[in-house]
Amino acid sequence: MTSIIKILPDHVINKIAAGEVVERPASVVKELIENSIDAGATEIFIDIEEAGRRLIRITDNGSGMSKEDARTAFLRHATSKISDDADLESIRTMGFRGEALSSIASVSHVRLLSAMQGATSGALIEIEGGIVRAISEAAAPQGTTLEIGHLFYNTPARRKFLKSPATEFSHILTTVSRQVMAHPAIRFRLTHNKKGVLDLPPSPSIKERVFQLSGGVIAENLIEFSGGRDSVHVHGLIGRPGSTRADKTYQDFFVNRRAVKNPSLTHALYSAYGDMLMRDRHPVAFIFIEIDPALVDVNVHPAKAEVRFRNQSQLHDLVRDVIREGLRGMNVFPATTHADGVRESLSDYLKHIDSPEFGVRNSELRNAISRSAALGQSQQMNYSAAPGPISLHSDLPTPNSELLYPLAQIHDSFIIAQSREGMAIIDQHAAHERVLFEKLQDQFGTGRVPVQDLLVTDQVELGPAQSLVLAAYLPELSKLGFLVEDFGNNTFVIKAVPVLLVGTDYKQLLLDILDEVNVHGKSGKMEEVRDEMLSVMACHPAIKVHRHLDQQEMEQLLADLFKCRMPHTCPHGRPTVVRFSMAEIMRMFKRM
Ligand code: ADP
Ligand code: MG
Repeated sequence: MTSIIKILPDHVINKIAAGEVVERPASVVKELIENSIDAGATEIFIDIEEAGRRLIRITDNGSGMSKEDARTAFLRHATSKISDDADLESIRTMGFRGEALSSIASVSHVRLLSAMQGATSGALIEIEGGIVRAISEAAAPQGTTLEIGHLFYNTPARRKFLKSPATEFSHILTTVSRQVMAHPAIRFRLTHNKKGVLDLPPSPSIKERVFQLSGGVIAENLIEFSGGRDSVHVHGLIGRPGSTRADKTYQDFFVNRRAVKNPSLTHALYSAYGDMLMRDRHPVAFIFIEIDPALVDVNVHPAKAEVRFRNQSQLHDLVRDVIREGLRGMNVFPATTHADGVRESLSDYLKHIDSPEFGVRNSELRNAISRSAALGQSQQMNYSAAPGPISLHSDLPTPNSELLYPLAQIHDSFIIAQSREGMAIIDQHAAHERVLFEKLQDQFGTGRVPVQDLLVTDQVELGPAQSLVLAAYLPELSKLGFLVEDFGNNTFVIKAVPVLLVGTDYKQLLLDILDEVNVHGKSGKMEEVRDEMLSVMACHPAIKVHRHLDQQEMEQLLADLFKCRMPHTCPHGRPTVVRFSMAEIMRMFKRM
């Protein structure tokens, strides 16, 4: 009998491995930088030509290799970093599989020059497509230089899949940036086609590095955070909720300084921001997790770009809580220290003027009055119909904790206030939404949401799909004070509503809640769904734009706002306040 199963020769095996490890020039750059880091380098120079197609050269001042080791390094599964399977449980190096050099060498031309400390000469090795062409000795400083040319010369399919040089170089830059960020003590220099791209001296901290790398507008809006428990330390920099981005470009997670993607960590980040985040906006975040290597499996992805955690859900909660703590109490407004920044944040902000609530006029005024009458509670907002007398600064009834003094209302929509440092503009609707949202949250938290039974009940008829959704959420709604009964045949009757909502359009409110649940209910976390429901509830009775406020009302609103836990954004994540410092104002007028 002839056998049809064969063991593939090594050079074929290496090419297969290269298919996984070496996807594009940036992968080569990543593997080689990791090797330099593992070799203890304090300087790493990266020279790229033609986005890596022509040349990738990495020079480090690390440990270097003996001639013997330099040769062995290119064999498959040759590594100095682990020696048995138990070592896989506690990986402290970037590499450990001994795959990179053999894979890279199998699909390119490689030239290696390496010398150890105190060696009189270095090893020079030339390899083509995995075959050693020459070994000799040459003068060399301590460290290792690897030159990769003709990348993918013998794998045409892979070469064809390469994108434009601009795209490939942007991948390289992203790769290098992540390493640069995670290793602030190392000097990095990057050139492309002999032009300098980056040259960063060692930095005292990650923060400095991130600042060096990410540039003004991003860095100005970053805050440092740090915390942890047991053998886990979570730290890094996160963006103010008012300075989010349209995509995740500025989001990186590092586990023991290895850049990784992990859905649970991403989820933790977003849930830390919670209702501070506007829909479809993404926080800037550079999150570092230092964790006992025994608690994380880095051996789950060919390029080690993913990891698995032993205690995934505890880690998720810890990361969320540490970030949340970092967000708490900070100044969440975008810092707008130069004219461009001012324009960016303002125009972002003004986009929301298109939202539907800006069309509504005076019906909510009546509603607000009837609510005041229905409630008669002291902590409730005091919006009277007739404008009261303008209070003088000296007899401010309730100075708010941030000492914002309302001077005027513009277009019956925004409050202009003087602050300690300059001035502020307050979005009255967003501010009131925040106040009502937290009030509703608090009432729910105590388990006693004051409800108003409706004498004249509203009947709502829905489509079958919506009926199913609503029916599923009825118990939750009733906990929030919204008593809705299922009458069968897709018909529902609203029996009672939270007192805070008396006077609003309950039917519309219910439909809005359903929409929200449809979009966000899939996450499955009841806590999040509940907050979505509450944010819709807070929106309906909140004073709208085009509603006149007198001085006392403005002061009351600001006082209530700054009693909130998260005063700086509305429940949908939009800013409630935009500030300008005197310095910014002076700059705008070219006085500085
Ligand atoms: P791994 O990093 O998984 O060990 P590699 O194929 O990337 O596998 O490298 C193989 C070995 O070559 C490493 O374990 C290390 O001993 C040696 N090596 C590679 N690059 C360098 C370098 N820049 N300086 C010193 N030694 C190196
Ligand atoms: Mg390696």
